[in-house]
Amino acid sequence: MSSRVIDWQPPEIAVSGGGRFPVRHVWCVGRNYAEHAREMGEDPERSEPVFFAKPARSVDQSGRVAYPADTTELHHEVEMVVFLGAGGKNVPAADWAERIFGFAVGVDLTRRDVQARLKKAGQPWEISKGFDQSAPMGLIKPAKHGSPTSEALIELQVNGVVRQQASVGEMIWLTHELLERLSRQVTLNAGDLIFTGTPAGVGPLRVGDRVKASVQDLPALEFTLVTADSSA
Ligand code: MN
Repeated sequence: MSSRVIDWQPPEIAVSGGGRFPVRHVWCVGRNYAEHAREMGEDPERSEPVFFAKPARSVDQSGRVAYPADTTELHHEVEMVVFLGAGGKNVPAADWAERIFGFAVGVDLTRRDVQARLKKAGQPWEISKGFDQSAPMGLIKPAKHGSPTSEALIELQVNGVVRQQASVGEMIWLTHELLERLSRQVTLNAGDLIFTGTPAGVGPLRVGDRVKASVQDLPALEFTLVTADSSA
């Protein structure tokens, strides 16, 4: 019988109504709303979705996010996040509904200046997305209590001012289509979660900013940007 040589537990996300969801892997999709693709200078034509990942440890529900190191341009990207209760490989779109455990509001925090510099150099830009606390999110609403509709309003406010607002149905690739395509490339598993892309209106955050993000009736997400030495 083998035993683990170090002590480690997966990070967890709290579920509305009780319980905790253990996080295995954080997947993200880029450019999934046409207006956001255009504001990033990209072609919003329906090309294959762009997938990337964040570390599982990037998830955060503390309500206080430390402004990350080595950036002067931290951007907010509000997104609907989907949590998998089961996974699979090559799973068609029609078979994903039963595998979804729930939904939450998340923000894909991005060091935009770092991303732009790495893109320009033709280098991987993973680290512009995958820093500590780069994935703040609200409580998970279990899918058995209802899923966001295509009319669901997705919105982000900074200090009470609306910065991003769209409907979830404006996504280029809908949730089940994203999962079908991602599962062609990797095996998805229970414990995985997927950020489904952000609408237009991304922009900078500063220390002291109060962020409020929502998707229809999912539990709202609120957090404050703090300096690194005050986050403890
Ligand atoms: Mn994003």
